Amino acid sequence: RQEQFRALRSVEPMTRDGKRINLNMNAGLLVDLPQLLESGAEGIGLFRTELQFMIASTMPRGEEQEAFYRSVIKQAAGRPVTFRTLDIGSDKVVPYFQAITEENPALGWRAIRLALDRPGLLRTQLRALLKAAAGTELKIMIPMVTEVQELKAVRVLLQKEVQHLSKFGHPLPRKLQYGAMLEVPALLWQLDELMEEVDFVSVGSNDLFQFSMAVDRGNARVADRFDTLGRPFLRLLRDIVRAGERHNTPVTLCGEMAGKPLSAMALLGIGFRSVSMSPAAIGPVKAMLLGLDTAKLGHVMSEALDGDPAGMPVREILKRFAEANNIPL
Ligand code: PEP
Ligand code: MG
Repeated sequence: RQEQFRALRSVEPMTRDGKRINLNMNAGLLVDLPQLLESGAEGIGLFRTELQFMIASTMPRGEEQEAFYRSVIKQAAGRPVTFRTLDIGSDKVVPYFQAITEENPALGWRAIRLALDRPGLLRTQLRALLKAAAGTELKIMIPMVTEVQELKAVRVLLQKEVQHLSKFGHPLPRKLQYGAMLEVPALLWQLDELMEEVDFVSVGSNDLFQFSMAVDRGNARVADRFDTLGRPFLRLLRDIVRAGERHNTPVTLCGEMAGKPLSAMALLGIGFRSVSMSPAAIGPVKAMLLGLDTAKLGHVMSEALDGDPAGMPVREILKRFAEANNIPL
């Protein structure tokens, strides 16, 4: 099947009923970049900038960050890259930075929280990104947002950096897109404000699942007993897609579930048109979607999510749909 996936590289990801799907890959290091061409991904939907920090023994300086981002953009050769600002804390350990041990690190001082408390760190990164992306289109997204207010605070810092650079005559990105990761359930009750505040939203389903189901994503004893294709989580995801549609704000999903053909199919069935996954998953997911009728699946999913909640598990419904419609999984 590897050969077959390779042959799909240059095939347009279009469903049987003519829906163009945006397939992106996740990355975090320069060694990931060649996969962009090999996988046939359209761009990098999630670039985890903390990786550079995690493999370093001391804090990378602004110039090092800038040089690194510049190489990423150069190697991406015009394909869009969405840079996520530092997501350190919890499972992403940066030893020289976090000395304190926390009782609940997943709920602790991490990502945007840490960045807002250490604005110097965030501003250095934003400046490095703005400089590296001079003349190109820059997409920045913010991890672990809990309140829309945090996004406004980061935007102020971003504007300051833009002003600072332009004052000193530095060339700026041609276009700047500002996005949020949706990983904390509290945002589900701020969807309208959220969609108005940003240019795009990317669902971090790994963390969103962990927090909404109250299961540690790294603990197989509990994480495995709940299903990302269960009704609660799929309904929750569908609410996000609908909010995006209401506000005309692009919504994508970049957690692990996007890379499994069956769950990717479920995502298309509830309305996602853009996903980002590990490079190896692009081929299998593309093979799945080429034969998919999203309208037909959409009806099945509505029935499954709004019909009898005690009925057949959604995972089973999806498997049967795939089998009946010759969808390769
Ligand atoms: C997620 O939480 O789903 C996500 C994509 O981010 P990470 O896995 O890096 O936490
Ligand atoms: Mg996350």
